[in-house]
Amino acid sequence: MEVTNHAGSWNNAILEVRKLPITSLVRALFGKLVDYFDARRVEITTQSLNGQVFTKFANMKLKRAISRASGHHVKLFDRDTWLFQVTTTKDGLKGGNNHTIRIHEQTCTCGKWQNYRISCSHVITCYAYVKMSHDTLVGDRYKLEIISKIYNSVFEPIPHKGDPRWPTEINFPKI
Ligand SMILES: [Zn+2]
Repeated sequence: MEVTNHAGSWNNAILEVRKLPITSLVRALFGKLVDYFDARRVEITTQSLNGQVFTKFANMKLKRAISRASGHHVKLFDRDTWLFQVTTTKDGLKGGNNHTIRIHEQTCTCGKWQNYRISCSHVITCYAYVKMSHDTLVGDRYKLEIISKIYNSVFEPIPHKGDPRWPTEINFPKI
């Protein structure tokens, strides 16, 4: 969802410039990219300074899963391979479902753990049972420390023609 939102905001950002002549279009897109990277750096730094370790999306998913996990029942089937069954609490027509969790294979039959790389409520229940932190199961793509490296690159302003840094010869392939 987070990636989709960023892609969406990027698409909106380029809507206004896409009808420009090519040179102006490239300059405008470059400016948008510089702004985008700066905004992401500020956002990640602010979240990190506030003590956050994971992205907002991951925090929201984990919070929801932790809340659901409190109503689950867990049974350990094999301590060596950490094979569990978790039964969700019956609530009217909902709940009462059984899920098989294989910690060593990093799978849960609900499929969310494999797809999102964020612990589902069933996995959180298992980790609570063995008194371990499920934070270690969150994928790198949601870790602010990892993501910050993507946006750490700083762009250089485009030099004015005649600037000594302007390349005198560019060896583009010729057709
Ligand atoms: Zn699950």
